[in-house]
Amino acid sequence: MSADLIPNKAFFDTYNEAVLILSDKQQLIYINPAFTYLTGFGLQHPFEMEALAELLKPGAFEADGLFKNRAFISFSKKDGALLKAKVSESDITLADQSKGKFYTINLLPGLDVLAKGEKKFYELADASPALIFLQDENEQAFYFNKAWLTYTGKTLQQQQNLLWKSLIHPDDVRVLEELAPTAAKRKSYSFEFRLKKFDGAYRNIFAISTPVILEDGSFAGYMSSGLDITEVKEAQNQISQLNHALKQSTEELDQFTYVTSHDLQEPLRMITGYIQLIQKNIERGNLASINEFMAFVIDGASRMQMLIGDLLQLSRVTRKTVPFAPVNINDIIHVALTHVSKAVTASKAEIAYENLPTVNGDTYQLVSLFENLLDNALKFNTLQTVPKIVISASEKDDKYIFQIKDNGIGIDNKFHKRIFAIFQRLHTQAEFEGTGIGLAVCKKIVERHGGEIWVESEPGKGSSFYFSIKK
Ligand code: ADP
Repeated sequence: MSADLIPNKAFFDTYNEAVLILSDKQQLIYINPAFTYLTGFGLQHPFEMEALAELLKPGAFEADGLFKNRAFISFSKKDGALLKAKVSESDITLADQSKGKFYTINLLPGLDVLAKGEKKFYELADASPALIFLQDENEQAFYFNKAWLTYTGKTLQQQQNLLWKSLIHPDDVRVLEELAPTAAKRKSYSFEFRLKKFDGAYRNIFAISTPVILEDGSFAGYMSSGLDITEVKEAQNQISQLNHALKQSTEELDQFTYVTSHDLQEPLRMITGYIQLIQKNIERGNLASINEFMAFVIDGASRMQMLIGDLLQLSRVTRKTVPFAPVNINDIIHVALTHVSKAVTASKAEIAYENLPTVNGDTYQLVSLFENLLDNALKFNTLQTVPKIVISASEKDDKYIFQIKDNGIGIDNKFHKRIFAIFQRLHTQAEFEGTGIGLAVCKKIVERHGGEIWVESEPGKGSSFYFSIKK
């Protein structure tokens, strides 16, 4: 046992970390001055040194599990105070070519303080389901717990320093950059980012970072822990979507109730008015005009019937739904035309369409959509012109855009939005019969198919109704 065996002894003698060297027979052969300074013990204290060598026996380092070449030991200093230390083990070839072991005991003040609870911390962190990592004061990550490594499918070496950032979604790197000023102030912060899981999918992580402040008040880095909140986020999104839909449908319902009661009263008023007249005339024995008055009653009743029928059609759009299936629009138009055949024959209308695409949708509703638009294109025409209707389709991004173009009376720009609301009509019954529900039905159907409906038109120049449908 001799100090002559120690290579680079002069270097170790001046090294400011505690260094121990054990021979291949597990005997302590060197202790540097830094070690003596830290513990008060030197080689002249064989009893204590034997106890220490015992702590460093093979196996201690494997047992740590986290770092193969690191272990945590505690032993008493000469003044009796308990010393906890982090020991790193390396191989060393001694001057006689035998193999020894070389240990450094971390004397850094920060680690010395951290060491008090460090092993417990790593045990706890590894048992935690949260994704935990530690960064030093220079932002270099040096520890990731088991949950993180399992989650990402990476090894510690593949994550250390700044490597872990390569798993962050490129769009979220900015999130971390924006936190830099807060981090520079050594404050706690929370953040959300997408992290690539071992299966390659990005998941949402919510994380909290807290600064590690040592007992002497100095800053030693950040400790961060995160949780996968993807499911929570999805549920939240769903709830807010549902809330939005609920709000919209409540508003629609309010408007609907208001206009329905208002518009249904109109024919009812007519019916009651004429019935009162008929009653008075019967009382007076004047039966001459009764037939004429009855005609108004019947007219009012059939108008009421028409309104209720159209309202039912509107409510069916959301109530009676069938799963979407591929439907060819040429076939849809073919069916819709049979429903408006009377008006087509009467007006001798020319209707052109060909090579229209197949979309995913509700057959019944798509027929109803085209039927309403064709019905209007045939109806809102002067008697002098033969209606000419062209149906075509184009593609834009992930949507098909359909166009139903007519040569009818056209619509003033200021009514282009309003006509899609329920009961909004621009004409009297005498001019053009209708309930003002048709386009509201069209709008609902198109929206159910993930699209929009709009019109381009000028008075006297015909109208083009457009709607989009998701491919
Ligand atoms: P209705 O046809 O029963 O009046 P709609 O909701 O279908 O109700 O249409 C609302 C209004 O929009 C119509 O009253 C009409 O003024 C206008 N309109 C709809 N389609 C056309 C069209 N092709 N040409 C001109 N005006 C139209």
